[in-house]
Amino acid sequence: MRIARFSIDGNVAFGAVEGDSAPGEEGGLVLDIIKGIPYGDFELSGTKVPLSKVRLLPPVLPNKVVAIGRNYAEHAAELGNEVPDAPVAFFKPTTSVIGSGDAIEYPSFSNELHHEAELAVVIGRMCREVPRERVKDVVLGYTCANDVTARDVQRRENQWARAKGFDTACPLGPWVETSLDPSDVTIQCTVNGEQRQLGRTSDMVRSVEDLVVHITEAMTLLPGDVILTGTPAGVGPLNVGDEVAVTIEGIGTLTNKVIKRG
Ligand code: MG
Repeated sequence: MRIARFSIDGNVAFGAVEGDSAPGEEGGLVLDIIKGIPYGDFELSGTKVPLSKVRLLPPVLPNKVVAIGRNYAEHAAELGNEVPDAPVAFFKPTTSVIGSGDAIEYPSFSNELHHEAELAVVIGRMCREVPRERVKDVVLGYTCANDVTARDVQRRENQWARAKGFDTACPLGPWVETSLDPSDVTIQCTVNGEQRQLGRTSDMVRSVEDLVVHITEAMTLLPGDVILTGTPAGVGPLNVGDEVAVTIEGIGTLTNKVIKRG
């Protein structure tokens, strides 16, 4: 099931996305509005609205976004880094989260903004110290993410809080796919229609299971929390006016335009 969060006529709701469409094309898709929130058991209302009539919002409101760096060997190498012995984990603040169709605001303190297409894991239930065999029980589903990075700032500041945590640096969407097997799907990034990144999640150094075990060893994850699983090779510049799209096989396409911060 694909679960979207959206607003219509000033109201915010979750809905199950029904119908088929090409990646990035939303014509013909319909939302069946969910009663309440999509964690635990939930019901569909039967009330349907066309996707074209709503504004998509970030598909979840995370309490935190935990991101993993250098989880694809080729990407670590392209920036001159080794694959680390332990996963590199960092946070992106909730104020950096935007949805598909929202604008990425180019920060004033950077001259080198980069895209990073990533598979995002969405947590469905409160959990800590999750054993490997229970990881599937705590995952609600998966969505597309762009770990937008001010690369020049990342190089000159030891902590990545500003480089990866500025407002709009965490596009998520378009929706959460709850029935995906994330072990070997293609992950792609285009800028203005031109392919920049193309990888497979099977090339991740640490799998989704590894990462959930590693993170929950340290902290409690809450429903709606998000884990970004790292980016494949091919990261590169974003400029004002660009349209960047992250497509993951079996999920859909997350599209955002880059604007100058007003
Ligand atoms: Mg990243």
